[in-house]
Amino acid sequence: MHRLLLMLALWAAVLPTAFAAPLQVAATTTDLKALVEEVGGDMVQVQALTSPLQDPHAAEIKPAQLALARRAELVVRIGLDHEPWFSRLGLPARTPVLDASRHARLLQTETPRLRLESRSHTHALGNTHYWLDPFNAIPITEGIEQSLSRLRPADALRFKANREAFVRRLRERIERWQQEMAPLRGLKVVVVHDSWTYFADRFGLTILATAEPMPGVPPSPQELSALVDRMKQAKVKLILADPHANPALLRLLASRTGARPVTLLPSAGAESAGSGYLDLFNHNIRRLTEALH
Ligand SMILES: [Zn+2]
Repeated sequence: MHRLLLMLALWAAVLPTAFAAPLQVAATTTDLKALVEEVGGDMVQVQALTSPLQDPHAAEIKPAQLALARRAELVVRIGLDHEPWFSRLGLPARTPVLDASRHARLLQTETPRLRLESRSHTHALGNTHYWLDPFNAIPITEGIEQSLSRLRPADALRFKANREAFVRRLRERIERWQQEMAPLRGLKVVVVHDSWTYFADRFGLTILATAEPMPGVPPSPQELSALVDRMKQAKVKLILADPHANPALLRLLASRTGARPVTLLPSAGAESAGSGYLDLFNHNIRRLTEALH
């Protein structure tokens, strides 16, 4: 009798989704796509509106992506001033939007806002690259679970179970990554764009300077020579660059200071690094530890 009840309960739990089409979700980045997939499993179909290698702040949104976003049943975004193009999507008023920045722990929120209007992207509301602290995936996926459950209440328990399994795996990995990064603790690095603030904060790297005086603005010759002096003085060994960093700037800094440029991936799903959120950190931590050998 008990077994029969259990079977019925299981059947009832599976039934609502067995006939339901996956929830259509659009995410502004591949990282958010990966996190929505962790929670949503096969109950969601997620499309990213930008590619992992392009400068996320400067992304051109093509008509195909516009159509995807307008069709979506849920749109997930980084928020703050990360996607200056977001309002141009022209989403229907009924589309629910999850702003993941409302769930994440933010850094550099005290940055002056004076340039907010004058430039498209200045981190004027806080540093927007918060997914690069893997601990932020815990509150972000909580926000995702809430949004998905609101839209598909019948699947709420499955979203919860998926998220719990993901957070368990994530915590194990973070412990391992911290062990792998332990020899690099306190290492002084220079970054090109302020993308690595959260990552450095979590894994104990010290960012001596940012080559771009303002996010997205190349350094002047004076700023460049001051930077070179500081790097030599501090014996900086690594320059952390994004894939879209200016190669001439990297070559120049490397040749004048002897520091080694390391291109890290700011987003999941690029190159052969794997498409998952955890793959992103595996890849970057491997790059970093190898660069010092
Ligand atoms: Zn940025």
